[in-house]
Amino acid sequence: MLNIRYEKTTAPKELPAADNPLKFGTIFTDHMFLMDYEEGKGWHDARIVPYGPISLEPSAMVFHYGQEMFEGLKAYKTEDGRTLLFRPNKNAERANNSNKRLCIPTIPEEDFAQAVKAMVKMDERWIPTKPGTSLYIRPFVIATDPFLGVRPSNRYLFAVILSPVGAYYPEGLNPVKIWIEDEYVRAIKGGIGEAKTGGNYVASLASQVKAHEEGYSQVLWLDGKERKYIEEVGAMNIFFKINGKVLTPELNGSILPGVTRDSVISLCKHWNVPVEERRISVEELYEAGKDGSLEEVFGTGTAAVISPVGHLRFEDHVLMVGDGGIGEFSQKIYDTITGIQLGKVEDTLGWTVEVV
Ligand SMILES: *Cc1c(COP(=O)(O)O)cnc(C)c1O
Repeated sequence: MLNIRYEKTTAPKELPAADNPLKFGTIFTDHMFLMDYEEGKGWHDARIVPYGPISLEPSAMVFHYGQEMFEGLKAYKTEDGRTLLFRPNKNAERANNSNKRLCIPTIPEEDFAQAVKAMVKMDERWIPTKPGTSLYIRPFVIATDPFLGVRPSNRYLFAVILSPVGAYYPEGLNPVKIWIEDEYVRAIKGGIGEAKTGGNYVASLASQVKAHEEGYSQVLWLDGKERKYIEEVGAMNIFFKINGKVLTPELNGSILPGVTRDSVISLCKHWNVPVEERRISVEELYEAGKDGSLEEVFGTGTAAVISPVGHLRFEDHVLMVGDGGIGEFSQKIYDTITGIQLGKVEDTLGWTVEVV
């Protein structure tokens, strides 16, 4: 149990106006959670203080060697005024899996959860209520040792910041165009693809820029060895519905184990919809497109929940999926997960946690 020190802001900000579109990741709340780590002392000095710049030495190791971990989850306001988190224990657990891979000291799961809940409680007035909106929660750890040289840092900062966000796709769940990447790779088995860390994102930028220039909104990543098997789409996991069966690439060491991915698989099992986690090649996908058995393609992640895919391109081959709208199964998954998150659909799988 953390003993959190509170330093409330004396200058609370004005809340965004009701018609503010709350562009993702642009507005931050009044406070932030901070906690330090020092070798010999462990995690200490948990505090909630006014949101603002943090001061670091230019030699802080995170700037040079990229030792950092982050998480992403959301808080939702129900119609009857309760505040819910969606499976926060999964994020606490994943944070430590990332920490271990990145040589960052682990954070007790209950302390991670306490920090998240304390922040959401503190800035509860910032949770937007319009349909499709939520409060995005970004916990992260950075290496702060002022030292040039490659080794794990001896000092770290754990922070939690909050951002009210609007619908990820303001124009609705319109299928997006995806560029299947055959030049760059995001991650390889044995690398850090399984960890949620900035390094994987910087590795993806060149490809994203190229895809945008070609008029595509996201990149589909292939395995780094054979460049044949499908891994992820942008910063989301990917699902296919082929011949009535739901398919997603198996977790193979280079795929990020998404909480939304896990939720979709659990819902399929709960509904007795056949679901398989296995290797899926681009060839198999294009074959299914050709013979008409490819029904739906969608990405999954906390930010958008579901992102339908309507158009894929691999080298010179374009593959169109569906009729230009969102598929029936994708819509059902979206409605169920967002319904549970908002307390509108019965939470039979026990996924929501109330912040009191
Ligand atoms: C965060 C993330 C996801 C999605 O995970 P969720 O827990 O569902 O939000 C998928 N892929 C990558 C690379 C990610 O960083």
